Amino acid sequence: MSKVEDRQVLIVGGGPAGAATAIRLARRGRDVLLVERAESWQWRACGVFTSPATVAELRRLGVAEPDLDRVARRLSAMRVETPRGTRFRLTYGDDGSLASAAVGLDRSALDPHLLDLARIAGADVRTGTTVRDVRDGRATLTDGGVVRARVFVGADGLRSTVAGDAGVVRRPPLGDRPALTFHVAEPEPHRLAPRDGRMVVFDGGYVGLAPVPGGRVNVGIVLAAAAWRERLRSNGAAATTAAVLALIPAADDDPVPWTAPKLCDTIEGASPVATRVAARSGRDWLLVGDAAGFLDPFTGEGLHRALRSAELAADAIDRHLHGDPSALAAYDRALTRRTRAKDAVSLLVQAFLGAPSAFEYAARRLASRSEVRETMGRVIGDLVPASTAFDPRFLVALLRP
Ligand SMILES: Cc1cc2nc3c(=O)[nH]c(=O)nc-3n(C[C@H](O)[C@H](O)[C@H](O)COP(=O)(O)OP(=O)(O)OC[C@H]3O[C@@H](n4cnc5c(N)ncnc54)[C@H](O)[C@@H]3O)c2cc1C
Repeated sequence: MSKVEDRQVLIVGGGPAGAATAIRLARRGRDVLLVERAESWQWRACGVFTSPATVAELRRLGVAEPDLDRVARRLSAMRVETPRGTRFRLTYGDDGSLASAAVGLDRSALDPHLLDLARIAGADVRTGTTVRDVRDGRATLTDGGVVRARVFVGADGLRSTVAGDAGVVRRPPLGDRPALTFHVAEPEPHRLAPRDGRMVVFDGGYVGLAPVPGGRVNVGIVLAAAAWRERLRSNGAAATTAAVLALIPAADDDPVPWTAPKLCDTIEGASPVATRVAARSGRDWLLVGDAAGFLDPFTGEGLHRALRSAELAADAIDRHLHGDPSALAAYDRALTRRTRAKDAVSLLVQAFLGAPSAFEYAARRLASRSEVRETMGRVIGDLVPASTAFDPRFLVALLRP
């Protein structure tokens, strides 16, 4: 007979979204079980670059300054580079203080730290167990256990079991584009001199380069064009990665020669690197983080969304457990309201990326118009409402010849 346990809340997945939800609910005294598939942290397809808005969320979650110093490396800007050589730097309103800087995160330190905070708050964190399915108020685990819960939280990323079992997964709008990601060793990490992250756009895709703590640089490649996807299928991840790295223009601040990097971990992939759902909550479940929808790493700021959705979800679950019958449905509406404009910005940027001459036109204007560039950085970094990008005055300032 399988062991059956009863919980108030079962959280599926121990990434930033699941851990943050667990921390917030456990601090309210809720009985929380978080189940994470990995026994211990291991590199997987995920992102590391983020804006100061996410760092502020981590502080609000209770991550202490010494821990932030350990998990986050300050970057001076994200430098966007086009195939024709136009460059502009997004500084996200950086005024020279750590509080206002974009960062590269060490996920191998951040994710376990957030799970530790969840444990300290009182959540039961069970690693090395996978949730196989969630149906009819019960979750089946691969260790043979069954969990009955009043609320199930899908924090299980792009291929969410909870979303799949709820029947809400839809085709993502940007098609089947895959992403590949890994770290390379940085022989001389210049700890005291923050360097730029880079977003290098090439014909048919883009590659993000983000220095992270521990003398490493994260590489995240998105292959948008069908020709690259075919190349990945026929030649494999290592050869495709080498071909992309060879396209990165040499720069004075290169921490490593991109043609001969030393890889620190396996090349992990996600395909498609996006997900879309028709609903983010139901009668006894809700979705947070990537499981609730993720469009693309170029503008996605998935980490910020993971932490904000966790905060909204914890409030909604707490109200639901207090007997508010509309709390979970209200969560869905609130998250949709908060993400709609940013998703529209992301789709607009993707439309430009898909039309190289239009992208080049916009990039040249961003490079030469500092106020417009600053606003764009704040929109992408979730520091001002995304609707700012649809203000006719902003659009005219960006697009006028
Ligand atoms: C290639 C790539 C590049 C990205 N780049 C960026 C970026 O630059 N900036 C940014 O902000 N965001 C980026 N993102 C998104 C970012 O990684 C996520 O938004 C972030 O990790 C928060 O996600 P999460 O907690 O929702 O999911 P995840 O971090 O994916 O965590 C999900 C967890 O659920 C566990 N899990 C899954 N299924 C089960 C199951 N059935 N049972 C138990 N456990 C399970 C997994 O092991 C994992 O630990 C990128 C994503 C990818 C794939």
